[in-house]
Parts: sequence; C-alpha cells; structure tokens
Amino acid sequence: MQITICGGGNAAHTLAGLLAAQPANRVSVYLSLQAELSQWKEGIKAQGGILVRRGQIQILGCPERISAEPAEVVPGAQLVLLALPAFAHESVLQEIAPHLEEGTWIGALPARGCFDLCARLVLGKRYAEMVIFGLQTLPWACRVQRYGREATILGTKTSVDLAAWPAECGGEIASVLGRLLNLDLETIPSFLSLTLAGTGQLLHPGIMYGLFYHWDGKPFAEAPLFYQGIDQFTAGILQELSDEVQSIRSCLEEISPALNLSAVRPLEEWLHHSYKNDIADPSTLQTSLLTNRGYAGLKAPVRSQDGRLYPDFQARYLAEDVPYALVATRGIAELAGVTTPTMERVIAWAQDRLGKEYLVSGNLRGRDLPDSRAPQRYGIDTLEKLRTIYPVTA
Ligand code: NAD
Repeated sequence: MQITICGGGNAAHTLAGLLAAQPANRVSVYLSLQAELSQWKEGIKAQGGILVRRGQIQILGCPERISAEPAEVVPGAQLVLLALPAFAHESVLQEIAPHLEEGTWIGALPARGCFDLCARLVLGKRYAEMVIFGLQTLPWACRVQRYGREATILGTKTSVDLAAWPAECGGEIASVLGRLLNLDLETIPSFLSLTLAGTGQLLHPGIMYGLFYHWDGKPFAEAPLFYQGIDQFTAGILQELSDEVQSIRSCLEEISPALNLSAVRPLEEWLHHSYKNDIADPSTLQTSLLTNRGYAGLKAPVRSQDGRLYPDFQARYLAEDVPYALVATRGIAELAGVTTPTMERVIAWAQDRLGKEYLVSGNLRGRDLPDSRAPQRYGIDTLEKLRTIYPVTA
C-alpha cells in the first residue's frame, strides 16, 4: 500500500518504522518543518531507517521518500495519516490538498473534536471524493528516543474507536489499518460520536482545573502527580463533565431516536473498559483513577523558570484539549440547548490561563473561536444544520 505520513514527532516516528518495515508498503513522510526534515534525513541515513522498540522487540523500517514538498510525497498515496497535534491539522491539510487523488483515505491519529468538519472546510467540493477517518486516541504511548532514528512504544491501547466518512467505509479502514498496525480498531457510527466520546477532553482540562484552579502562584519543589493527585473535588469535576456529555448524548438521542451514540460512554465506564486489568480498586471514579497502573507516576505539566517549577498552562492538556475538543463538545451542547455549567467553568478558567477567548457570558462567540473546532466555527449554528451533517446511523 502507498502510504504518506504527515508529521515528524513521536507518533510519526512510530508509524514510519512500523509501516515501512512491511515489504508490501511504500511509505513516504511529509515534514512541513524544514528543521525536522534535515534531522530525519541524517538519522535515517546513519541508521538505515527508523527503529521502533517495543519491549524486547525491535522493528526497523525505512521510508522511501521524505520531503518538505507535498508534491514529492503525496501524489499516489492511498492512505494519508496525519500524526499531528490538532492545531496543525488544518494547515497541513491545506498544504497536501492539491496533491491528493480521488478516493484517498485521509485519517487523523488522534482526530480530537470535529476533525471531519475541518477536512470538509479545507477540501471543499473535493471532500466528497475522499474518505475521511479519525481515531479516538493515538493507539500507543510512544516517545522518540533519538530524533530521526528511534522511537519506543511504552504501551498499546487494548482497542481504539475509529469513525469514518462515508460511514460505510469505516469497517474496511478499521480492518486494513488494524492489520497494518496490528491493532484492534473498533468502528463507531459517526464523527459526532467520536467528538463526544473523547475522554481526554474531560480528563486533561478537568484535572488541570482541579489541580491548579486555586494555585497560589508559588513554585513547586517537584511536579505534582497528575492522575494520582486527584482529590475528591477533582473527581467531582470529572464526574460533572462526564454527566454533561451524557446529557448531550441523551438530548440528541431523544431528538433523533435512531441516532447511535452508544460509543459515548460515561467516563468511569470508559476507564473500566479501557484499563480492565490495570485498575486495582474500581469502586469509584476517584479510586479508578488513583489505582490505575496505566496512570501511575505521571506528572502534571510544569515549566522550569530560574530553576523553579511552575504549572505549564500552555501544555497540550489545555492548549490542544480545550480548543480542539472540549470547546467542540460545548459547541454541540449549545446547538442542542443542553446546559453545561461545569464545562463552562473549566473552559472559562482554561481560556484565561491560555490567554484566549472562546466563551463570552456563557456563549461561544469569543474572538478565538475561529481557532477552535466548535461546529459554530464552520457555520453550523443550528441543530438542523448539525443533523444534516450527521445523518442518523442506526
Ligand atoms: P509531537 O509533539 O511528538 O509531534 C508533533 C509534530 O507535529 C511535530 O514534530 C511536527 O512535525 C508536527 N507539527 C507541530 N506543529 C506543526 C505545525 N504548526 N505545522 C506543521 N506541523 C507541525 O506529538 P506526538 O506525540 O507525535 O503526538 C501527536 C498527537 O497524538 C498529538 O495530538 C498528541 O496529543 C497525541 N497523543 C500522543 C501520545 C504519545 O504518546 N505520543 C499519546 C496520546 C495522544
């Protein structure tokens, strides 16, 4: 299969090594950042490819072409994988769009909220010629060990949800991509499900809020634990956020009874499903987070200044998960007329920390809405318009 990977970070290294190691694939990498291109070229030349380590297993795969020119790496691709943070989806899609051929499968790992609307905007009329898909999360926890040379897979998710447009293509994509990456990909009916089901949008901003809303401005001796730092208050915030998503789900299902939003699980249920064997005490949401081996030891994002540690409010837990996920879900709530006081509280706090404005007096009409993935940003400002985008899937 001819595959183009867009991006040059942890996920792109992992994909490049794993996919290029399979003789049936012809893999190219599109690196729009020049500084990354030269490091990839040097690294691959020295090493003979990108090495991916998973425990004792080592896989070496060498991409055929690497370029900062989309014309050199995109034409002919049957599968294009955006291994990028959500804030780069739109610009990279714009760069590659003129070189995409009809019928190409274009997917984001992970999609975050409303990736399909972003693709629809960029591709315009050509959207109907393409197949768009998104994964709910990156299937691995992975890190670059040596840039342009080596990445390590630290953990692999048991199963990852995949949505596609047109929806009927989802099964084939899940089967092909699942085989290529040796993963269990579960097809869900629509991008609407994928947007609402994202749990990073609840966990990351919710825990940042719980940990730091009363921060006194003093530096930390060491970074606080992230998941294991959750107190009853933070667990309460997470529960309220999860309940609000369930209210959106119930409201939409009531309006369109044939709509299938079963993939939008309550947070606690999702945790038990995703981390079956890792949670020592599943009795409450708080204990499920505190005793999850998969989260053990993970620290809150901090930045160092003059040798002291401060919370990093520009970290992706806010900078990506708020505008490209939670604000998208809040936008759907606004269209459905569902009140979401805790989402508003968390977004209002986060936007102040980020120096952004999405919500004004409880409405999504802030000056930075164009840099978000709220449906309103794409002109979807009524429930009727939302329903035409997401036809009912039983
Ligand atoms: P990364 O920071 O390692 O890589 C980001 C890459 O994106 C950069 O190297 C660059 O090539 C590209 N990029 C960044 N800004 C760009 C811009 N403005 N224009 C063009 N290209 C740009 O990120 P990653 O770890 O590979 O993660 C990719 C996505 O997966 C992110 O959304 C991340 O939150 C998510 N994720 C990662 C992990 C993980 O373990 N790495 C786990 C879960 C989710």
